[in-house]
Amino acid sequence: MQLTDLNAHGGIGANCLLLQFEGLNIIIDAGIHPKKIGREALPRFEKLYGLHIDLIFVTHCHLDHLGALPVIAKDHPNTPIIMSHDTAQFYRRMLQNSCNVMDRQRAELGIADYPLYSYGDISACSRQVIGLTPGQARHFEADSGDRISFTLHPSGHIPGAMGILFEYRHQRIFHSGDVLFEKTILLDGAEFPQGDMDTVILETTRGSTERAASRESEIERLLRCIMDTVSHGGSILIPVFALGRMQELLAVFHHARSTGKLKELPIYISGLGIDLLNQFDRISRKSPHVRIRRKILRELNACKMPDKHRPGKDRPGIYLLSSGMMVENTPSYKAASTLLESHQNTIAFVGYCDPDTPGGKILKLHQGDKFLFKSLGKAVAAMARIEKFDLSSHADREELLEFAKARNPRCVVLHHGDPDSRDWFKSRLTEWDPKCQILDPVPLKAVTV
Ligand SMILES: [Zn+2]
Ligand SMILES: [Zn+2]
Repeated sequence: MQLTDLNAHGGIGANCLLLQFEGLNIIIDAGIHPKKIGREALPRFEKLYGLHIDLIFVTHCHLDHLGALPVIAKDHPNTPIIMSHDTAQFYRRMLQNSCNVMDRQRAELGIADYPLYSYGDISACSRQVIGLTPGQARHFEADSGDRISFTLHPSGHIPGAMGILFEYRHQRIFHSGDVLFEKTILLDGAEFPQGDMDTVILETTRGSTERAASRESEIERLLRCIMDTVSHGGSILIPVFALGRMQELLAVFHHARSTGKLKELPIYISGLGIDLLNQFDRISRKSPHVRIRRKILRELNACKMPDKHRPGKDRPGIYLLSSGMMVENTPSYKAASTLLESHQNTIAFVGYCDPDTPGGKILKLHQGDKFLFKSLGKAVAAMARIEKFDLSSHADREELLEFAKARNPRCVVLHHGDPDSRDWFKSRLTEWDPKCQILDPVPLKAVTV
């Protein structure tokens, strides 16, 4: 098999892998790079010109895996797009949101390439989508007559997320997708296939991160931080990804309210998170793996933040707003511009923030430092308490390493991680079995597996 990483900038970004078998070409994921602008944010699809793509897989709905799907679908309009049945319920909502954001950026920042696709393109690509039930093997025969089987396996992480097992001429190749083995209040952990594999394509997100505390103790600490903030008359802003983390925290708050660990107070959330909660409600009625109901919004007295609402000017509350990295002009960015200046308030980060994003920069502030909210033309002295909690939806590096080793692979392909993270896996795996081939593919260069 030949493998090419089409994510030109390496690391975690526009995730997209091309797998080439003798008579078959497969794409896994078509993401958009969160830090790049315009067509630069796309995978290098031009590498596919002249190539017949037999199947496109989408592991899950985060935009670094999904965001470029309508673009590749337009180039390959007859190629089936495979995803889990659950992902098929809400990928369109994610793409439409991405389209709206690009429209806004075109107007505000004058990016001529935007939007990279329209609502019409999203509808067109949805005709190619096939939503599958995990655990059921499918057999596919290409026009060339070559055959492959594949099975989706839940990877935890977010609802609908999957790893993919390929079986090709007695070889077993497993792509992990983004993984969380641990069960959360919202979702069951990964249920991956056992037994030997020839090749494991492994996400390496947390390769350079050591876990300091358990998820449970981090949640306890977050709840104490909320209570402490509101008891001093302040509000707390929690910037979150709208998909997954927001619903998990709503479920955490709901449970904490019932056990008296959280008192009654207003909770404001952003719109996309509510739409996705409604989708998860539908999924949870059919699947025992997802546990959340939309009625918790009512029971929590949580609501969409009104347009005119000024965070911190009213009574204390929780602001559970996207984006997680406080990208400019998102609800969390705007809320921070009014909450950061008061020592009574707290900004609590619960996920990874790239150091170049506003969230990453705010995390590094010392009390009293000035922070410029560039797109709002406003500089604010950072007086609020700034905290960080480790509630990652990616597996710990040791768990992933153990999973890979137990598969007894002849080859491990390192994927979805910064260079330091990949290096950690490379050295551990080489130490474990010097004969195991460890591949860290250079973007856009085909490697033979
Ligand atoms: Zn993800
Ligand atoms: Zn990802």
